[in-house]
Amino acid sequence: MEIISVVPRGYCQGVVRAIQIARKTAQDNPDTPVYMLGMIVHNQFVVDACKAIGIRFVEEAGKTRSELLDRIDSGIVIFTAHGISDDVKEKAIRKGLKVVDASCLDVIKTHDLVKQHIQQDGDVLYIGKKGHPESEGTVSLSKRVHLITSCEDIQRLDGLKNVLITNQTTLSILDTSAIIEECLKKYPDAIVAKEICNATRVRQEAVMHLKDTDVLIVVGDARSNNSNQLRKIALASGIKEAYLIDSIKDLKEEMVKEKNRIAVTSGSSTPNELTQQVITFLKQYALNGKWDLPEDITVRLL
Ligand code: SF4
Repeated sequence: MEIISVVPRGYCQGVVRAIQIARKTAQDNPDTPVYMLGMIVHNQFVVDACKAIGIRFVEEAGKTRSELLDRIDSGIVIFTAHGISDDVKEKAIRKGLKVVDASCLDVIKTHDLVKQHIQQDGDVLYIGKKGHPESEGTVSLSKRVHLITSCEDIQRLDGLKNVLITNQTTLSILDTSAIIEECLKKYPDAIVAKEICNATRVRQEAVMHLKDTDVLIVVGDARSNNSNQLRKIALASGIKEAYLIDSIKDLKEEMVKEKNRIAVTSGSSTPNELTQQVITFLKQYALNGKWDLPEDITVRLL
């Protein structure tokens, strides 16, 4: 049995930056309530580590950032790496909150691109995931940003002019290309700006280039879009089995038993310790065949 550590994997620069900002904000303001609007990144271990340093999370599935903001009356609000619309930011300022923006610079770049296009009297087809905070932030920039979640969505959008096609940063490079092709059939003169971020792209390409691999284990939270995409990319690239696990606690012997080549990777919001624990355990298992999972999982913020 061979265990492959896929490279690159794990934290991207946007996640590291968001965690650094959150940690510094909590440290510098010990007497002020510090709130995070939504999950800082889609990983419960990171959220729990932030809670341990005093950050309070305001989160509820199905609620928009604006609705969540209604629950905060004083103190500091941190916007997450997924980006935020100007409207929500202005609402927070109007409420008298101190605003700290931990939006990833790649997401801000996409926002700037979209805003610039709207100013030029254009429409935007934004390929993204419904309900994801990044797509929520981008779509709420303007009524002229239209969320595209599938090829079917394009058919109902008639009469758009000066069209820009762009996308959420953490989508699958394979799926996105297919939807862009469909958009171009309807709007052949559209400008295309592929905005899958470099961190997402290189992690997906590393999985696509794996050779003769029987199983891919992706360490990541089930809510993490980029972690889910790594699993799907593996299956689409011919790897027969791919599993998404939160941590070593979800690893099952039947996932890897009697397999020759097992690769391990992780989403860009997964703490590296979690992935390393899985790799170390599997390497030991490959040597001695003993399935004795460790009890303790300790995650530091960085
Ligand atoms: S995955 Fe990409 S867009 Fe998201 S935080 Fe990381 S670098 Fe930024």
